[in-house]
Amino acid sequence: MKVAKFGGTSLADARQITKVVEIVKADPMRRIVVVSAPGKRSSSDIKVTDLLIALAKAVQAARPFETELGAVVQRYAEIQRDLGLDPGIVTEIENDLRGRIQSRPGNDAQFLDAMKAAGEDNCAKLVARVFTRQGLPARYVDPKDAGMLLSEDFGNAQVLPESYARLAALKDIPETVIFPGFFGYTKRGQVATFPRGGSDITGSILAAAVGAHFYENFTDVDSVFGIDPRIFPEAQPIPILTYQEMRELAYAGFGVFHDEAIVPVVQAKIPICIKNTNRPEAPGTVIVPQRKYHHGEVVGIASAGGFSTIYLSKYMMNREVGFGRRLLQILEEEHLSFEHVPSGIDSLSVILRRAPLTPSVEKHVLDRIRKELRPDDVGIEHDLALIMVVGEGMRYAVGIAATACAALANSGVNIEMINQGSSEISIMFGVKETDQKNAVLALGRALLPH
Ligand code: ASP
Repeated sequence: MKVAKFGGTSLADARQITKVVEIVKADPMRRIVVVSAPGKRSSSDIKVTDLLIALAKAVQAARPFETELGAVVQRYAEIQRDLGLDPGIVTEIENDLRGRIQSRPGNDAQFLDAMKAAGEDNCAKLVARVFTRQGLPARYVDPKDAGMLLSEDFGNAQVLPESYARLAALKDIPETVIFPGFFGYTKRGQVATFPRGGSDITGSILAAAVGAHFYENFTDVDSVFGIDPRIFPEAQPIPILTYQEMRELAYAGFGVFHDEAIVPVVQAKIPICIKNTNRPEAPGTVIVPQRKYHHGEVVGIASAGGFSTIYLSKYMMNREVGFGRRLLQILEEEHLSFEHVPSGIDSLSVILRRAPLTPSVEKHVLDRIRKELRPDDVGIEHDLALIMVVGEGMRYAVGIAATACAALANSGVNIEMINQGSSEISIMFGVKETDQKNAVLALGRALLPH
């Protein structure tokens, strides 16, 4: 059995949805289909999820929202018209949206999730009808009935472990299952969504729950590339990657696959295949538990901006038992998660995502650090980019860091920070966002085949 997930561009219009039907028909192993909400039809288009967010914001601001509502309905109406479906489905979708607005919960984050989820939910209902009409009996499955239970972190939810046993029953459904991605329900019955791009996570959870042989992730590129082709035109496609390599690359900006979507399939060792809906015959990129690699081989270089560093120094910090714990406790109490903690003898930096650090949060956290830890110096720097150089072949290989540092120095890029994970399959460089592109280019030239 295969679980096949289709991303937003694969469902953007009637033509794309027809391709999806053909792909699923072509392989009877494709028994469970996970869908995103309709995505962009062109680079200037707007995803249905973003239209829904605009709608939710208008409602929250007590503004007239008919234009925003109309924009969402219009996207589904075009698909209905072009596929010759019964127009009743468009009325159902409009009623569904109005129903969600009417039963708006008091909590804004909760309401936003209920609205965002409408994109995938209505898409799955529509796609199930298209499949059945085109001769492949399909059943829309509601994540609530199937037992997709999520934590109450609205907009950033995580699956609850008990979901897996419940979702396993999906494999006994005789029709092709059409399951909406991106959302589930809390134990109290509220809609909650994964982070953006989270339909990949739904697909992975279902693959693990039913013990699929393969998790196919259909998108709009032929494969994962070793480096962003927009920065480095000689970028080569990667035929095979390990889970760990993909996780590290996805974490630092490889948008093709959500980094959190690796986790559910790891234990069950289910291979993932990234494929192109527009060219399903292309082999794609396969992601597996282990692979053969060449000594010293770097497989990919990823980069992401939007990070900040809190740096602290205190003479004799190394002798002060509990200093690090107290610092991290402050972050925990302020609900800030951290990404990395590089340290020296008398200094410590904490790297966090920039987004939650609003000016007031930032001031409050720095005040607490000053008061509770009494450092000699504390400060914060924004606009940091992280660059990950990744490859299983980097284990035990000597000289990669030296080559990378030399390449950055020769390009005039100042390294703000270097960190090597304990698995030794990645080296992370922190650079100023203004140097990000240059740094990626320099590292690509020095370390990747081209
Ligand atoms: N539709 C959601 C988003 O745009 C989830 C997804 O496409 O995976 O983030």
